[in-house]
Amino acid sequence: MITVDCTNAPVIKDQMLIHVADKLGALPILKSEKFILTNPDDSKSINKSDVLHAISDFLKSVNLQEDFQIIPKGDNIKIEPLDVKDMKERLENITVKKKELFFECAHCGFITQYETELKSHKLIHYI
Ligand SMILES: [Zn+2]
Repeated sequence: MITVDCTNAPVIKDQMLIHVADKLGALPILKSEKFILTNPDDSKSINKSDVLHAISDFLKSVNLQEDFQIIPKGDNIKIEPLDVKDMKERLENITVKKKELFFECAHCGFITQYETELKSHKLIHYI
């Protein structure tokens, strides 16, 4: 399980998540400004160097490799911007296919594609 921390790079988070998850065949779980990559096959784990590779691949593909720093630390990878000017404009030119995000219940780890389903699921914890 690898966590990618986009706290300081929210502008590229969604597109990066899609690109990286697609490339690795990983299951992405969104947690505010971070996303967690897990392998849909429980017996296998996510290779960190593959994630780093996919992230730098993504940055190259959107021509932002000079603008972000990738900082790996344990099972965490932090994305830090170096220079944010023009970034929004450049990102608008990127087209990425949509992929569903996953929402995780903080109480029990239940995972769903639908935010509304998570909301109604959470009610069981409040009875
Ligand atoms: Zn739950």
